[in-house]
Order: sequence, then C-alpha cells, then structure tokens
Amino acid sequence: MSISHGTGASTGAGASSTLVLVVEDEPAIATAVAHRLSAEGWRVETVGDGHAGVAAASRLKPDVVVLDVMLPGIDGLEVCRRIQAERPVPVLMLTARDDETDMLIGLGVGADDYMTKPFSMRELVARIKALLRRTERAARAAELMSTQSTPVPALEIGDVVVDRAQRRVHRDGAEVHLTPTEFDLLVALASSPRTVLTRERLLAEVWDWVDASGTRTVDSHVKALRRKLGADLIRTVHGVGYAFEPSDPSASAAAEADV
Ligand code: CA
Repeated sequence: MSISHGTGASTGAGASSTLVLVVEDEPAIATAVAHRLSAEGWRVETVGDGHAGVAAASRLKPDVVVLDVMLPGIDGLEVCRRIQAERPVPVLMLTARDDETDMLIGLGVGADDYMTKPFSMRELVARIKALLRRTERAARAAELMSTQSTPVPALEIGDVVVDRAQRRVHRDGAEVHLTPTEFDLLVALASSPRTVLTRERLLAEVWDWVDASGTRTVDSHVKALRRKLGADLIRTVHGVGYAFEPSDPSASAAAEADV
C-alpha cells in the first residue's frame, strides 16, 4: 500500500526522488524510521556507524540526513562536520536529552534541527518536510539574487553587518562564522530591529515549521548566536520571544527610521 500526500503536488517528480540518509546504530529505531519515511514516498538509505554515514553522504548526495549523536566509529558531531564540509545538506540530529541538544548547538556543529529521543514519527516527518521546504526556498532565493542586476544591500545595524548575498556576517569589522541556520535566524531578527518576534514566528520564518514543541530549537539557536556575536545584541522578552537590539545608541537611531 502506498500513501501519497498532497505535498508532492507542487514539487512534482522531485518529491518522489527525495533521498533521506538515516545514520543510526540502533536497528529497531533505524528500521522504524526507514519504514515510516518510505511511506512518505521518499527513498531511504540506512547506515549504522559514523564512517559509513560520511561515506554514504558523499556517495549518495542525500537531500536530508537524519543523524544519531551516539554512534560507533566517529560520533554524530564529527559526522555532521565532515558531511557539511564536503557539501551543505540539511541535517536533523537525534539526541538523547534536551541538554545534549543545547550542548551541540553551543558547539556550533551545524545541524539544522534537533529532536530528542524518544520522538514521534509524525513529528519526524513534519520536520523533514520543513527542512526540504527550506532547502527549496533557499535555492529559489539564491537564484533570484544571482539574477538581480542590483545587489541585495547588506543589513547594517549598529556594528553588525549582515551580507545576505554572500551570507557573511561581521561585527565591529571582524567576521563571525555562523551555521546556515544561525545565519537565517540572525537575518529574521535583524530585519526587524527593536521589534519583539515571538518564538512561534521565528520558528515559522526560519524553520518553516509551526509547532510549540519546536520553540526550544529557537531558544537554543539564540543562545548560540549570543555566544558568537555577543550577549548584548538579542534581548529576551520573557514568555514572548526575542528582539534584536543593538546597544550602540547612535546606531539604534540610524536603524530606527521606520519603527
Ligand atoms: Ca546511537
């Protein structure tokens, strides 16, 4: 029995050729995940250790990687780094605990999303779909930027300069290296300086994902941005969300034009 969902309508043939690489050493979980993802009409490749994961990513060029952290051989952190170094691909990392997720984001491993075990298959599928939509959207945006005759202006807020065309960030003249997800989150925040953005809105804008269970991902990535860019730039509005607020008063005035 095959079940086809409506999401394939706009992507057409592309949807059926979507390849998901699952790197997971627990056979029961790997089998269950592969079974569920296959039911979405995706091709699924499963490997059980870190070295095989790196090799499979290189050989198969998957559209998404679902990556367990605790693996024999080399662990998920290193697998993620090596995969991303060769070719950017959305990575959804499976962790054992919430604080492990925070730790991994803090290390700047470069995964796009995290799920803590045990997780629901429904949520796994929803998050993978969100990652696929983000990839499509990013490709369209890149194409649009490359065809535009006038370059997309950099966002300049205080001493922070966000070059959206080159996807580079400088603070006070020094380049700050962000993961793709951190960059997208910074753009979302910096595009509306001194405005409180709710966690749900950031989740929808950056992750293309709407579910209260994902707001922890937002919190963890904000932590990572603060660690890299400085703690003073992003204000927490408790129970609501976050606001990008440069501390330099003259810069604030410049950015305030239309608030
Ligand atoms: Ca494991």
